[in-house]
Amino acid sequence: MEQEKNITWLLKLGELTLKGGNRPAFERALRRNLAARLRGTGAEIVTSNGRFYVRSGPGAAERTEAVLGRIFGISGWARTRAVEKSREAVLAAMVAEARDCADRGITTFKVEARRTDKSFPLDSYALRSEGGAAILEALPGLRVDVHRPGAVIEVEIRERAYVYAAGRKGRRGLPVGTAGRGLLLLSGGIDSPVAGYLMESRGMGLDAAYFHAWPYTPDEARQKVLRLAETVGAYGMGIRLHTLDFTPAQMRIKERAPEPWTTVLLRMAMMEAAELLARRQRCKCLITGESLSQVASQTVENITCTQSRITLPVLRPLIGMDKESIIAAAVSIGTYETSILPYQDCCALFSPANPVLRGNAAEAGALYESLELRPLIAEALANRRIDKCAYPPG
Ligand code: ATP
Ligand code: MG
Repeated sequence: MEQEKNITWLLKLGELTLKGGNRPAFERALRRNLAARLRGTGAEIVTSNGRFYVRSGPGAAERTEAVLGRIFGISGWARTRAVEKSREAVLAAMVAEARDCADRGITTFKVEARRTDKSFPLDSYALRSEGGAAILEALPGLRVDVHRPGAVIEVEIRERAYVYAAGRKGRRGLPVGTAGRGLLLLSGGIDSPVAGYLMESRGMGLDAAYFHAWPYTPDEARQKVLRLAETVGAYGMGIRLHTLDFTPAQMRIKERAPEPWTTVLLRMAMMEAAELLARRQRCKCLITGESLSQVASQTVENITCTQSRITLPVLRPLIGMDKESIIAAAVSIGTYETSILPYQDCCALFSPANPVLRGNAAEAGALYESLELRPLIAEALANRRIDKCAYPPG
C-alpha cells in the first residue's frame, strides 16, 4: 500500500548536461533550488546516474508540478508509475497508463522503450512489441499509430522501471544562482518582466529596482510592479523589489532641462541610481527591457547616452526582439495580463512631444552634470522601500 502513495517524477536535465567538468556544480544548484522550492511538502529529491527524480505523496503533487513547470535547468519532466523490475509489473503499468490515456479520449498510441539496466530480460524491442500487444489486448478500443500517435507510452528500465505517457516540456535554461546576480530595472510595462525572465533562464538571480513618481503615478502602479516582481521571481528564487521615489529627480529634470532631452536624462539618472544599488546588493550587472528602436530613447545613440555615466555592464536581452515576440513571451510567462493594466509608469507622464532621437553622448553628459542630480539620487536610494517577494506557493 505504501508504494501506492508514492508518486515519482522523472526529470530530464537540459543544457547543464553539456557542462563537462562543471556539471556537478550545476547539478548541485538545481538540487538546491528544487529543495528550496519543495520545502515543507515532504517531497524527496533523488539523483541517480545523471537523472533527477522527485518522490512525494499525492498531497504534494500539485505543488510539485507547479515547481517543475517553472524551474530552470530541466528540459522535460513526467509523472511516472514507478514499479519493480519484473516483466509482469512493467506490462501491467503500461496497460494502466494506456487506460488513463483512453479515459482521456485518446484512441491511438505508440510505445517507446529504453533499457539502461541490460540485465532486464526484455530488451527495448521486446518491451515495445510485448507492451504494445498487452495494451491492445486489454484495451481493444486503442490502435497503434507510429506516425501521429495520440499518446506515447514510454518505459524506462533503470534502477526501477518507470512508465509514463504525458511527458511535459521543461523551461530548459540553467539553474538560477549559477550566473551570479543582476539588478533588473523593472517598470510596469510589458518588456522588463520578460527581460528578467530571460536572464533568470541563464542562471541569474535577480533584485529589481522600480522608480516610482508618486503622486504623479498612483500607488496602484507600484502594486502592479510588485505583482510583476512576484511572477518573475517565481521562476527564480524570489525577488527583492526596491522602490525608489524619483519624483524630486524628475521634477528637477522637467524644470531645468530642454524638453526634448527629458527622457534620455531621466534614463541616465535611473542608470546611475541602479548602479549604486547594484553594488550594494552584490549585483554584477543591470538588466533592462530595451529593444532597439522600439521607442525614441532606445536608438543606439540614445542607449549610448543612457549608459554613459556608469561602468557596470547593462544586459538587454530583448534588444533584437520585436514587440510581437516579446508579447508572446509575456503571455507565456504570465506577466502580460498584469502589464497591460492601465496604470501609467512615471516615464509616460513626462514624455516630451519631440524627443531627441539621436542624442550626442557628450552633450547629454554636460546637460546631465548641470542638473546636479546626485544628492537627489542618494536620497532616493537611502529612503527606498524594500519588498521581499518570496517564492509564492507553487
Ligand atoms: P517596459 O515595457 O519594460 O516598461 P518600455 O518599452 O516602456 O519598457 P521604456 O519606458 O523606454 O521602454 O523603458 C526602457 C527600460 O527602462 C525598461 O524596459 C525598464 O528596464 C527601464 N525602466 C523604464 N522605466 C522604469 C521605471 N519607472 N522603473 C524601473 N525601470 C524602468
Ligand atoms: Mg516603460
